[in-house]
Amino acid sequence: MSGLAHLWQSVRGWVYPPACGVCDVPLTTARQVERPFLCGDCESTLKAIEDGYCEICGQRDDAPQLRAFQCANCKNRELAFDFAVSAWRSAGVARELMHRFKYGQQVHLSRLLGSLISGVWRDERLLLESWVVVPVPLHPKRLRERGFNQSREISVEMMRWAPPGIKLEMCELLSRTRHMVRQAQLDREDRFRNPNGAFESKLGRLPKRFVDREKKLNLLLVDDVITTGSTVSECASVLREALEPDRIAAISVLRG
Ligand SMILES: [Zn+2]
Ligand SMILES: [Zn+2]
Repeated sequence: MSGLAHLWQSVRGWVYPPACGVCDVPLTTARQVERPFLCGDCESTLKAIEDGYCEICGQRDDAPQLRAFQCANCKNRELAFDFAVSAWRSAGVARELMHRFKYGQQVHLSRLLGSLISGVWRDERLLLESWVVVPVPLHPKRLRERGFNQSREISVEMMRWAPPGIKLEMCELLSRTRHMVRQAQLDREDRFRNPNGAFESKLGRLPKRFVDREKKLNLLLVDDVITTGSTVSECASVLREALEPDRIAAISVLRG
């Protein structure tokens, strides 16, 4: 997608009367403010990840428990982030939305996804004074094909939905150096192996006050979907080594 096409896709949501991004039903202005580009019927089918998710990777347990627990996915694994939280289960309407956004070039849906990812703020571990928001990058080749990085677009939009008192500052501290096979095309075992060595840090982009450590450095990795946690863990490991941050959390709109 060219830069101009991207711009047009972005403004499309403002130019046309708003409609649901899934079923195309027209939306009232009030609804559009409350939840942009999603009707109430479609929203009611979304499944939030609330009680009873893994305290490390955010995976939901099928038999939700009220106490904190660690899932089978995290046992015997070294994950480089402190914890991950996802807002919604990747299924049905949620998956369809993400598909339209990424592959149907409906960039304006970033406003909806930015609002949906804000569900993660229910997790009190995220309620710190400030976070440096780091979108998971795309490889330049894929960026050229798609015309936008979905994680970056979601990061930009999520800033306006953060709870009051939390300062978010976006800083693209990573680049992707290896072109990867799409995760969806890999089996589970390959997904664990795939990301190794795929990212590099861009430390020159970090504002000086964080380099000088006048402020605590809390890094918030943002991805569209977390599946096994391998990609965000690889990102976290590169950042941890380069910056020794106080904390690294990962958040995503969907959990596969
Ligand atoms: Zn709808
Ligand atoms: Zn887990």
